[in-house]
Amino acid sequence: MILPPATLGMLGGGQLGRFFVTAAHEMGYQVWVLDPDRNSPAGQIAERHFCVAYDDYAVLDEFAAGCAAITTEFENVPADTLDYLAKFVPVRPGAGAVAVCQNRIAEKSFLRDNGFPHGPFVAVHSENDLKTVPAELFPAILKVACFGYDGKGQATVNNVEEALIAFGHFKGEHCVLEQRLPLDYEVSVVLARDGNGRVACFPTGENRHTRGILDVSIVPARTSACLKSDAEDVAARIAEQLGYIGTMGVEFFVSRGRLMVNEMAPRPHNSGHYTLDACVTNQFEQQVRALCGLPLGEARAHSASVMVNLLGDLWYDGDTYREPDWARLYAIPSLKLHLYGKHHARPGRKMGHFTLIGDDPEAVQQAALAARAAIGIRDE
Ligand code: ADP
Ligand code: MG
Repeated sequence: MILPPATLGMLGGGQLGRFFVTAAHEMGYQVWVLDPDRNSPAGQIAERHFCVAYDDYAVLDEFAAGCAAITTEFENVPADTLDYLAKFVPVRPGAGAVAVCQNRIAEKSFLRDNGFPHGPFVAVHSENDLKTVPAELFPAILKVACFGYDGKGQATVNNVEEALIAFGHFKGEHCVLEQRLPLDYEVSVVLARDGNGRVACFPTGENRHTRGILDVSIVPARTSACLKSDAEDVAARIAEQLGYIGTMGVEFFVSRGRLMVNEMAPRPHNSGHYTLDACVTNQFEQQVRALCGLPLGEARAHSASVMVNLLGDLWYDGDTYREPDWARLYAIPSLKLHLYGKHHARPGRKMGHFTLIGDDPEAVQQAALAARAAIGIRDE
């Protein structure tokens, strides 16, 4: 067990890293953050911020020498960096598990080879792979295999010709072509797994996306107990199969009543932010616990909740850039506002979120939608 006041290392300095730093500080640890962004939200509040590239090996040596264990919040940290650091200090999750989640071809192949439910897809390495795609796969979505997030690097295509054009736009980057599924709704499971193989799932959440970006998470999900427990079971088996240690998120589609895995995130997940305010233990404390070899905390939700993301769009009133009217949100006693300390708002950038909590799920949903409208988020 790694106990306070040990120093923990965090690769990546976004909001997920910032919440990790806060959780670790509350538990008595110190944190060093490595992230190339000078204004990194996590770097601002860590004991030290190493503002360098993820493959700056001289600095990685110094980083590893000062940390008792290292984790990540950014799924695109090169797997080689994780492997390198693991020579000196425990790195959790391990490079192998992260590598599967970093590449959509590896991820979908992992799901297929291990019998997890997923939608039809083909791996696309070259134009030839597209020319032989069966017509039933269309309409489909072409997604770049690496570095896509929040709906970026994706194109909807209706036939082989359109797929070839989109593949050209992606400059020949390897892709997956997925059948576009009719979605009833989407759910996700955030869980933690410790080094002894014990898994604690947070309750399944229901997610609404707008333009490919998470907009609202509702917990408990408004679906059957059976579907929720199936999702938790599949997510736990994925973590086991990956030998995963830490907090991870598994996104699912529900299509024509069937549960299918969409993707995995080898880190805490945006749809798990509700755990900060509605659960006995939050997803970041679980990440600290799993990293340090502590027993996992209780994952039970003590309240119903709705989480609403605050994107950079909210800072723009037409062409005018201004701070949103936070007083409107602070007027609501059961609302918890979290702002990430990012210096500049860009449309689509995740700047913060708020969570409404309460005993009655329906009342919480209504209050959250009213708060969302009050701060100026319009439905599309
Ligand atoms: P990201 O890495 O950007 O989160 P996802 O693959 O999760 O990428 O896609 C973002 C969103 O786009 C999904 O949550 C879902 O709403 C929609 N989407 C993605 N793939 C499909 C699909 N095959 N069929 C239907 N909708 C999809
Ligand atoms: Mg996603």
